[in-house]
Amino acid sequence: MAAPTKDGRGAIAPGGVIGIMGGGQLGRMTALAAAELGYRCHVFCPEQDGPTEQVAAAATIAAYDDAVALDAFAAAVDVVTFEFENVPHESVQRLAGRVPVRPGWNVLRVSQDRLVEKRFVEAAGVPVTRFAEITGPDSLAKALAEIGAPAVLKTTRMGYDGKGQVLVEPGMDPAEAWARMGGPVGILEGFVDFECEISVIVARGPDGATAHFEPVRNVHRDHILHTTTVPAGLAAETGAAAVAAALRITEVLDVVGLLAVEMFVARDGRVLVNEIAPRPHNSGHWTIDACACSQFEQFVRAVCGLPLGDPARHSDAVMTNLIGDEAGDWPAFLAEPGACLHLYGKAESRPGRKMGHVTRLGRKASRKT
Ligand code: AMP
Repeated sequence: MAAPTKDGRGAIAPGGVIGIMGGGQLGRMTALAAAELGYRCHVFCPEQDGPTEQVAAAATIAAYDDAVALDAFAAAVDVVTFEFENVPHESVQRLAGRVPVRPGWNVLRVSQDRLVEKRFVEAAGVPVTRFAEITGPDSLAKALAEIGAPAVLKTTRMGYDGKGQVLVEPGMDPAEAWARMGGPVGILEGFVDFECEISVIVARGPDGATAHFEPVRNVHRDHILHTTTVPAGLAAETGAAAVAAALRITEVLDVVGLLAVEMFVARDGRVLVNEIAPRPHNSGHWTIDACACSQFEQFVRAVCGLPLGDPARHSDAVMTNLIGDEAGDWPAFLAEPGACLHLYGKAESRPGRKMGHVTRLGRKASRKT
């Protein structure tokens, strides 16, 4: 018998069909975890033969705004979720009129725009770096006078992995920085002199129950995540502040599913939120091999209204992304004891493209033998 959930609908029991918008590696690993619990996944994405489609039970290959395809998709699934948050507003609302959509439109709306996101996080009482809306070289000059350089200018929408970002050094011409950013609206952020970058992933079910993975330490290379290390080696109060911030945003945003919260630990000890993502996150891939319940299984449980799993870690772990040609070293990773290799099935390797990851496990330091 299906358990009732807060939004009045029963849990989606194993055997059901989960619709996933977006066809990349996050959808692939979600579909694999869903299959382990007896679900089938139906992917909706514009590209043929993507990482998710290769392992999904069904696929709709269509543009995100194809109304006929969206209606047929909604009729074929029990719930819809996202591995890609930049799905058009109208499409999400169309789906939501026909089938439960988790997380809901408001969560996507906030996370699609860096300015809306920063304002939301600040209004929730969670610290962020100083920021200002930028609409052209003049407003950039004014904001630089207030915030100071160096600062980081980012496009508000569709920017990821450092795309659409400019480091504005002292003395740089605002017109040049604006032109290099290349978007209609920007956000200027005070440069954070950080000690390290961390993230926390929270799962939340339709009944409001939450579970979080412990904070992890992230190192970026060329703006792309390079490694995630756990344990993060943080002071207890820093870890607690990071978890409290992530839980607070998850609750206020009313997320059903997963929320990944990326943060800076500033040299003065403050924990400042950089960005949020309402889906599985690259900094949570280590959980596949180092936790009894991975972020992907937890995502499936949350979206389907099942009890959340135990997020505890059984091993220490270092996850390294395999970017571009790095995945070509797969024979060496396979030969390495304690290394868990994950490849995403992408046919073409390009510089900067995430092709896979390898997680190296170690004995959990605190475990008694
Ligand atoms: P983002 O696309 O916002 O995740 O930024 C990518 C990376 O750029 C971050 O992980 C940081 O390493 C760096 N970065 C972004 N914003 C700032 C900032 N305000 N201060 C310092 N470094 C930043």
